[in-house]
Amino acid sequence: MPSQVYVDQQICIGCGLCVSIEPGVFRLNGDGVSEVHDQGGGDSGKIQQAIDSCPVNCIGWR
Ligand code: SF4
Repeated sequence: MPSQVYVDQQICIGCGLCVSIEPGVFRLNGDGVSEVHDQGGGDSGKIQQAIDSCPVNCIGWR
C-alpha cells in the first residue's frame, strides 16, 4: 500500500520551499501554510526531496 504524504500545518512556517520543489503535490493555502492538494500528483523522489529540504521538518510519510 503506497504511503501518504502529509504536512503538519501547526509547524509549517510557509516558506514555500516544498511548493517550489513539487507543486504537483504541495501548495500554500489561504492561511499561508502548505497543504497536500494532490496526493498522487507528484513524483515520489521530489516529495522526498521536499521532506528532506523542509526547514522545520514538518512533512512526512504516514
Ligand atoms: S517546506 Fe516546510 S515549512 Fe516550508 S512551506 Fe513547505 S511544509 Fe511549510
